[in-house]
Amino acid sequence: MNDCLFCRIIRGEKQADFVLRGDTVVAFKDIRPQAPVHLLIVPRKHIRSINDLAEEDRPIVSDLLFTARELAREAGIHQSGFKLLFNVERGGGQYIFHLHLHLIGGW
Ligand code: 5GP
Ligand code: ZN
Repeated sequence: MNDCLFCRIIRGEKQADFVLRGDTVVAFKDIRPQAPVHLLIVPRKHIRSINDLAEEDRPIVSDLLFTARELAREAGIHQSGFKLLFNVERGGGQYIFHLHLHLIGGW
């Protein structure tokens, strides 16, 4: 067991507003949304950042992107447009060190 915040959310130890619970990835609403739609798409596997992806993680990266597209469709923002963002390490604005993809849009 680790005390990573997103691992705790995934284990159900901390509340989050989930929009998806998949086999390999989950998605929940960002607690401090930067836009009307701001979701975090998170692999169940604890991976620190993009820098730490292993060869075996290629399917996870694919799942993150396809899930983002699907959730953008469900949120009705796929036509108007949206941003997908990975912050990588402190200099890249990352401060939760469990890989996650931001889906931002709906302005
Ligand atoms: P980062 O800067 O690491 O890419 O993004 C972390 C994101 O997690 C931020 O947008 C922040 O608002 C969000 N966040 C931080 N703590 C929590 C939390 O406890 N619950 C949820 N749902 N989001 C969080
Ligand atoms: Zn974690």
